[in-house]
Amino acid sequence: MTETPPRKRVLLAKPRGYCAGVDRAVQTVEEALKLYGAPIYVRKQIVHNKHVVSTLEAKGAIFVEENEEVPEGSTVVFSAHGVAPEVHEQAKERNLKAIDATCPLVTKVHHEARRFAAEDYDILLIGHEGHEEVIGTSGEAPAHIQLVDGPDGVDKVTVRDPEKVVWLSQTTLSVDETLETVAQLKKKLPMLQSPPSDDICYATQNRQQVMKQIALDCDVVLVVGSKNSSNSVRMVEVAVQAGAAQGHLIDFAHEIEDSWLEGATTVGLSSGASVPEELVEQVLAHLAERGFADVEEVVTVDERLVFSLPQELKRDMKVAAAARAV
Ligand code: SF4
Repeated sequence: MTETPPRKRVLLAKPRGYCAGVDRAVQTVEEALKLYGAPIYVRKQIVHNKHVVSTLEAKGAIFVEENEEVPEGSTVVFSAHGVAPEVHEQAKERNLKAIDATCPLVTKVHHEARRFAAEDYDILLIGHEGHEEVIGTSGEAPAHIQLVDGPDGVDKVTVRDPEKVVWLSQTTLSVDETLETVAQLKKKLPMLQSPPSDDICYATQNRQQVMKQIALDCDVVLVVGSKNSSNSVRMVEVAVQAGAAQGHLIDFAHEIEDSWLEGATTVGLSSGASVPEELVEQVLAHLAERGFADVEEVVTVDERLVFSLPQELKRDMKVAAAARAV
């Protein structure tokens, strides 16, 4: 009697891929290109994904690191990760037309930082050193904010008044690691206050939650996302911590090594919040060619949040539509 080969399957996580903030940021650049024509300058990667950036470049977006690279009088879009107030000031000085595609959930953290700084709190910002979002948030109140880069950063924290201190966080951190950092901080500063609402955004939390649910059943977990995408990197970490035998972050299907799949019967698949679905479809096709044609979607929550485009862009779109109607 011949043995039946083991069933090879893919557990496809949902929610995955684009969040409301990324969708809005990408649409902002696309609509700006349509409205004002190419080139449109974009300060930093609009979202942390290689494919998204190269697709927008092909449509006429020019990505720059700083405002000073943008010719005077041009249009510049600020990325979803947010910018410090001084970046808006520089744009004014260069007479740039600035469109701010900062995710509203990052803007919310900026507001919190401003409010607590105005009340003269010491603010402990939990986040990754050098990440654009952290640089932008810190720029709101540099004299009041100190960065805490995970539990290992707690020892270095010093505050003026232990009764007037609050923690905030980057939106794309590991939920569990952040809880650990906060617990360590509270041991040191028992009066530490928490933010008025979660700073780690819904999309980050939902993508981590479904990874935890599938990880234990997976021999390999693949997360589609770029290496500079904080939320994508965290998803791989969460999957491995939750029991996946292996976890890999890939930008494209061709990066999957056959050795990862040797002996595997269940592959978990998800994608970071800045990843378009077509890249996931390419991975599914690649896996199907290698016998993993059976795809089971595991859904934990139905995401419906949508953000409207930046006001400054909507206003110009309205004016253009009215002019066309005349
Ligand atoms: S990951 Fe969260 S904070 Fe970042 S753009 Fe998406 S919704 Fe906004």
